[in-house]
Amino acid sequence: MLSQNARLINSRGQPVLGGIQLRLPFTPSTDALHLAESLRLGYTGSTTQSDTALGGNPAAVPDTIREGRSRMAYTHRTPSTSRRTTYSSSDPLADLRATLDVLPDDDIVATLDSYRPTGRPGYDQRVMWRAYACAFLLHVPHTNALIRQLQVNPALRDICGFGEQLPGRRTFNRFIQRLSDHADLVEDCFIELTSALKDLLPSLGQEVAIDATAVRTHSNPNKAKEGCLPSDPDAAWGVKHSAKSKSKEGTEFFFGYKVHMVADAKYGLPLAFKVTPGNESDSPELPCIMNQAYDRYDWFKPAVAMADRGYDAADNFKYLHDKKVDPIIHIRKPTAHDGLYDGVYNKDLLPLCVGNVPMEFIGTTPAGEYVYRCRSEGCPLKESKQGGIRHCDTVYAEDPTVSPELMRILGPTTRRNSEEWKGFYAKRWSVERLFKTLKESRRLEAHCVRGLKSIQLHSMMSVLTFQATALVKVLQGELDGMRWMVRKVA
Ligand SMILES: [Zn+2]
Repeated sequence: MLSQNARLINSRGQPVLGGIQLRLPFTPSTDALHLAESLRLGYTGSTTQSDTALGGNPAAVPDTIREGRSRMAYTHRTPSTSRRTTYSSSDPLADLRATLDVLPDDDIVATLDSYRPTGRPGYDQRVMWRAYACAFLLHVPHTNALIRQLQVNPALRDICGFGEQLPGRRTFNRFIQRLSDHADLVEDCFIELTSALKDLLPSLGQEVAIDATAVRTHSNPNKAKEGCLPSDPDAAWGVKHSAKSKSKEGTEFFFGYKVHMVADAKYGLPLAFKVTPGNESDSPELPCIMNQAYDRYDWFKPAVAMADRGYDAADNFKYLHDKKVDPIIHIRKPTAHDGLYDGVYNKDLLPLCVGNVPMEFIGTTPAGEYVYRCRSEGCPLKESKQGGIRHCDTVYAEDPTVSPELMRILGPTTRRNSEEWKGFYAKRWSVERLFKTLKESRRLEAHCVRGLKSIQLHSMMSVLTFQATALVKVLQGELDGMRWMVRKVA
């Protein structure tokens, strides 16, 4: 099964993917027919295919793709060619095949195969699974579009493993239905991929970002008004606050679900996620998804966690601090009712000296206390002649971990609003960028399924196929190729 092991060696010639059992059930074909069809796919890039780009119209394919690099890369696929060339990202079909091959899916296929009585004709479940995964990798919006792609693209059929006979919509839907009963196996697959990435990227998971995104349902929520249930009984109205511009925050209502995510903030890779109805608020989910990551990965020991002010809750600060994670969470604007600020801190969270002037931060003691000193300028006690002191000479040290509320306001390890704090907080964009990519190129919101269970499978496939692409890129030695994932962070 591992005769195609070349795929598991990175560009430096090192074998990779310790724990994963990979198999390549289909022999790559290099004949002219497939070459011709590969050109018809009309890729514009490995992550930006749209349904129309896949429409099988050769005229729509730029000449460079039709005549140029695709052809070279594909015809170079011979055993004597260097692996680097075989995995050139200018060959989208090879990339697609490599991405499907990297999925540790034996358990999924075996479980689905067990539904089929032996000897009865039917579609190989591995073939169905590969086709279903392709729908996400190629951002094909729905089952009918996938079937159409398979009809017009022999190269795609070959990659999945179909012969001339293609399944219909009902067969596909039955397959998806069955798979949704085994979402745990799909998640195991994701966990294995993520751990394989950890072997290749040792700093994975050290800095994480947490956020949630809306996934709209396509059913009509207003049916409830007419006295019957909404057509998606699990969906709910939710609200998302999104920064539409720097000056103004937008409030957006949606009907559907939320995907809550822990992502690696350096690489922008998903680590743990959870789907809830849209009306669940973000903040209480932080410990849930973090616990999920701790349960799934024995290597998960983040030092820092970034989140926006939707997660501002003393409980979250306490939870993270207890886990030895530095919480870098934005706080809601202090209000007059926020007693801790009154007479103790100014709006920049600097404590006030006895002359009622904000002190300056001068450092942290080895025990972790923050130390402040009155600045000689501006303090009304500065001119005091008592004992010849030129300022009020207040020195103030406080332990920011004394209470969850103080941790929340000051930041227990990295002082809130310090340059270091701002540097961490900026990396929170990684998770927003991840959501954007999942929605634009991995169908996170392109679905026509209903019900929590189906949305869970759909979201999981979106995240799983994203992770498979990332693993292939890293295996190819193309850390640079991952830049599109983290562009905004750098
Ligand atoms: Zn003073």
